[in-house]
Amino acid sequence: MRVPVTPSRLGELARLKAPSLASVVARRIEDQVVGAGWPVGSLLGSEGDLLARFGISRAALREAVRILEHSGVATMRRGPGGGLLVAEPSRDALVAAIGVWYSYEGITMAETMELRRPLLAAAVALAAERIGAPDAEDLVARARGLGAHGRIRLHEPNAVDSHIGVLSGNTALGLFIDALGDLGVTRLRGGWAELRPVLSTVELDRIATIYRRLAAAVAAHEPAVAVAAAGEVHEMLADRIFDLREQGRRPPVSAARGKLAEQIAGAIRDDIERAGWPLGRVIGSEAELIERYRVSRAVLREAVRILEHHGAARAKRGPSGGLVVSAPDLEAFRRASRLYLQYEGVTSQSLSEVREVVEVAMVRTAAQRVTESSAARLRAAIEAEGARAAGDDPATSFLDFHSELADAAGNRLARLYVEVLSDLVPVRVKASQRSAPAMTAMSGAAHRAHARIVDAVAAGDADAAERRMRRHLRASVDVLQ
Ligand SMILES: [Zn+2]
Repeated sequence: MRVPVTPSRLGELARLKAPSLASVVARRIEDQVVGAGWPVGSLLGSEGDLLARFGISRAALREAVRILEHSGVATMRRGPGGGLLVAEPSRDALVAAIGVWYSYEGITMAETMELRRPLLAAAVALAAERIGAPDAEDLVARARGLGAHGRIRLHEPNAVDSHIGVLSGNTALGLFIDALGDLGVTRLRGGWAELRPVLSTVELDRIATIYRRLAAAVAAHEPAVAVAAAGEVHEMLADRIFDLREQGRRPPVSAARGKLAEQIAGAIRDDIERAGWPLGRVIGSEAELIERYRVSRAVLREAVRILEHHGAARAKRGPSGGLVVSAPDLEAFRRASRLYLQYEGVTSQSLSEVREVVEVAMVRTAAQRVTESSAARLRAAIEAEGARAAGDDPATSFLDFHSELADAAGNRLARLYVEVLSDLVPVRVKASQRSAPAMTAMSGAAHRAHARIVDAVAAGDADAAERRMRRHLRASVDVLQ
């Protein structure tokens, strides 16, 4: 099957500079892939076809292909009969991309755990409502297996959490829980974080026991019991995970082939983090890096390509060249998350569910941690919104407030999730609501709802803030497509 890519308004395209031109072309191809139902393996065209179709330079097209490969939308197959093919987005690659951004921003384990708790509680509750008989038996068996071969290991409860994410029937929730679980385990294993004090044998046994109770409660459709059990494990871990930013020690590289380049990319990224992400610094010439990491030129080049995909570094040619540290591109990462969830066919109901979980958790935290300055910033955001709202599309001009709120909660990871989710939540107002008076009424209602949420946050009233946020989000779902 061939996916038609429509070139439109080429005159407009030609006036753009190369990098933005590449991203416009990449977006157009992405839209076509999504629109065609993501037919993995289909040919989008040879390089020659695409050059002719878009009327752009080879350099701009190659940049567009790099963007598409980064998002896992398409991949270029070289050689005769080759061309740009629709790809299958990789969940592991997306989780790795979140890891790079996490490392670059210096996100803490406290932020991670704080966000993981409400997501897992929501997944546990949904799984308890939705689970069927065969899945219930399977879950109980998995929990019984925890620690069956001696001491329970770190990744084992994670695997159960991940399974609960699947049972929740909410793809977005499942992806976010996996990503946070992987991040936590990777940081602990790599020596970037540690449990202080370490868990005793008695405590490890207790965790296994609580997980068995959690699984039994999910299987018996008892959400409250299951959520309480998840909270109990969280309490045991949350207060004793500490970051050790300076000391990460990646285990020695000894990989099976194919994974080697990924491990080298990881090792280079760890070295960049240890050096404090010195943007623009050359961290070594190709020859030096081959020597330092004891790999072949081919493996190093593959590792560099992975780092370039994540935006962690780029290769600079010439006499003063080498591998240069760069800032990961958050927009590329947001787009990759969005596309992955679209590929998985995530429903708008799932998105609304997970969005409510994250927003409610953040508005509560913002209220609990409110300071004079955070309250003042939120009030300023409300004023700016009032000024901006006149004339704009109400759905899109009201999203900034939600990012501000995640900032006020002091959780950068939550802010990222809020933004990914607002990218995905439908922002087009229903046709039936699109008359001018209806739009004005809607803007007014959203703006007043935001102002009332800020009043509750500023007063430190987490319960009122939660109630108002839930009402506001549900009202928005009613008017959007
Ligand atoms: Zn809003």
